[in-house]
Amino acid sequence: MSNASEIPLTKCVVFDCDGVLVDAVSSWRTLHDHFGTDNSLHLQRFIRGEITDVEFMRSDIQMWKAVQDPIYRDELFRAYSGVKLMDGAREVVEELQSNGVFVAIVSAGVDLFVSSIAAMLKVDDWIANGFVFNDDDSLSDEGVCRLHATGKGDVVHRLLQMNNLEVETCVSVGDSEMDLSMHVDGSRFIGFNPTRDSSIAAFNDADIDVVHGKDLRAILPFLRLQ
Ligand SMILES: [Mg+2]
Repeated sequence: MSNASEIPLTKCVVFDCDGVLVDAVSSWRTLHDHFGTDNSLHLQRFIRGEITDVEFMRSDIQMWKAVQDPIYRDELFRAYSGVKLMDGAREVVEELQSNGVFVAIVSAGVDLFVSSIAAMLKVDDWIANGFVFNDDDSLSDEGVCRLHATGKGDVVHRLLQMNNLEVETCVSVGDSEMDLSMHVDGSRFIGFNPTRDSSIAAFNDADIDVVHGKDLRAILPFLRLQ
């Protein structure tokens, strides 16, 4: 852990959503569980860079539609009803904002779900990937890719620029190796409770602080609030 007096004042914290703000590893996986499908094959191919985000989303939607077609927005929304916030998520966001910290969510998860978490936690900004619905509110065949899971750094840079924040005051928090793309030059990154073997290995290799367990409050000692 860095010496607290050496680290710059924290002015911006960017959170991954799945596995960090919420106690569910993937908002895509939640929908697979709902429809009884399994896309782990494509997940591995995606992590290896063999298929794009758009191809990955399309393959997810195809699998669900093979089970049920049409699929309506309400049903997707209801599939998330059992997902809980991570312990301490509310308290951490409140603590940060009461100290003047800008709080954002940068997620490659499902927008339908991430937007409800963003509203619940009253974060300052958020972005996620997601769905397109037809006029009758049924799910279309294509996903929307607003950011690449492995290219979250571009979004972090944009957020900092839009809000006149210095990169040195930014801390990103994520649970997977793809989140390391948020660790833009000059900023800091905290690994939160990695669960996949590949994430644990990537965090071990990176020069970052890592906290374990499912309580988001564990990140607070690694920040410098005013
Ligand atoms: Mg995650």
